[in-house]
Amino acid sequence: MDITLNNMSINPEFVIDPKLLVQVMLGGNALLTFESKKTKDHRVFHIRKDTYSKKDFTKAVRYKVFRNGMWIATFTDMQLSFISVSNPDNKILEWIWDHILDPAYIDRQLAIYHNGKCCVCGRQLTDPESIKLGIGPTCRDK
Ligand SMILES: [Zn+2]
Repeated sequence: MDITLNNMSINPEFVIDPKLLVQVMLGGNALLTFESKKTKDHRVFHIRKDTYSKKDFTKAVRYKVFRNGMWIATFTDMQLSFISVSNPDNKILEWIWDHILDPAYIDRQLAIYHNGKCCVCGRQLTDPESIKLGIGPTCRDK
C-alpha cells in the first residue's frame, strides 16, 4: 500500500459530506482521510469489504480497516472490533463509529476527504458530481 497517498488525499476538492460518510465508508474500497478541525492532526484509513470464500455460509458482512497497510480493525455485522487493544487509532475509529449517524456533530469536529477515486471500485473519478459524492456513476446505480 502506498503511504504517500497520505498527502495526496488532503485535497479540498475531495472533501466528503458527512451525511454520505456511511455510504462512502462502506463502499468496499474507501481510502479516507480524517482531519481534526481543531488540531489539524489527520489519519488515513483504508476500509475494504472482505471477500469470503464460497465455503462460508454465514454471509456476514465484514469490513477490514487498514492504516499504512496494517490491518487494525474490523466491522462485522456493524460491530467494531480491534486487532490490538493498545493501538491509539482505536479511539479515533471508535469516535467516528459512535457519531457516524450524527453528521452535524462530525462536521464540527472533522473534515473528511477521499483520494479522488471511487470508494467502491477504486477507479479515478472525473466528473464533479462523482467527486462530490466519492462514488462514480456506475457504482451509484448498483
Ligand atoms: Zn466505482
